[in-house]
Amino acid sequence: MNQPRAGTHYPRSFGEFQAWFRTEADCLDYLEWLRWPAGFVCPDCGHEGKWQLGDGRFMCPQCGSRTSVTAGTIFDRTRTPLTVWFSVCWLFATSKDGISALSLKRTLEVGSYQTVWAMLHRLRSVLVRPGRDRLAGVVEVDETYIGGVESGLSGGRAPGKKVMVGIAVEVREPRGFGRCRMSPVTDGAAASLHPFVRNHVEAGAKVITDGWQGYHGLEKLGYVHERRSQRAARTAGEDSGELLPAVHRVASLAKRWLLGTHQGAVLRQDVIRNVCFPTVAMMFNGLATTSTRPAYRVRSLGCPAMTTHRPATGVGVLQRSALG
Ligand SMILES: [Zn+2]
Repeated sequence: MNQPRAGTHYPRSFGEFQAWFRTEADCLDYLEWLRWPAGFVCPDCGHEGKWQLGDGRFMCPQCGSRTSVTAGTIFDRTRTPLTVWFSVCWLFATSKDGISALSLKRTLEVGSYQTVWAMLHRLRSVLVRPGRDRLAGVVEVDETYIGGVESGLSGGRAPGKKVMVGIAVEVREPRGFGRCRMSPVTDGAAASLHPFVRNHVEAGAKVITDGWQGYHGLEKLGYVHERRSQRAARTAGEDSGELLPAVHRVASLAKRWLLGTHQGAVLRQDVIRNVCFPTVAMMFNGLATTSTRPAYRVRSLGCPAMTTHRPATGVGVLQRSALG
């Protein structure tokens, strides 16, 4: 899925949001689909396919490791129902001027101020990671457009509202992705892309890009630069879309998540910059680094310890009905 569609991949309105995420099973199903769009892949060994355990977790038939849909995400080990969490995320992401625990408690009619405050704290804690490290090792870098309105949604595209975004993702051996970084860039020129790489990738890292000229000269900045040519791939009969699988995975997740939480609305650039990218980057970091990079698990960001979430509806009810 390259192009997310309203009503299929994300709700179009608050009404649709409510209809989709009525139960815990609905939310779990959505998270599973968001995390493994092509089906479950073991985060430890990369094996495809799973057994479902009685407590709702998945077990890898190959290496026996156990994981849950929420492991490593901000929903990990929470006692609060996912339906409530999803509502908080929705309100958090769609409110223009921020949201207070008190107003959120009134809106949601959730039990305690303390609970709501803790949820907001957890959301905010994944948005801001001051002084975070730059990426290292092998890093894919690419740029893409995000934002704007889908054609047909409200009478045409709004390309002026789209933001060009640089994306950098660590690639793990033998497979899997590590941390990621996203931030808006002015354009595709070297004057924009080089600073993006310098800000987000440690010198000495191996940087993989496509053949775009904006990436020429990265060697002079101290990187080992590997360029993958679309044309060469096409000539060799390979899928040129798979030249940079890690950044394309993040870009597609970002588009889905942004559109999902913002109802396909046109976003102000500052909202995209300050809220959306950190959210997606953190979510992706959580998803991608489960069980391999504990330091980047959301759980480690000072969240209060909570007991493991259990799906209220039990096992075997995960269906993709709401998602088409
Ligand atoms: Zn496994």
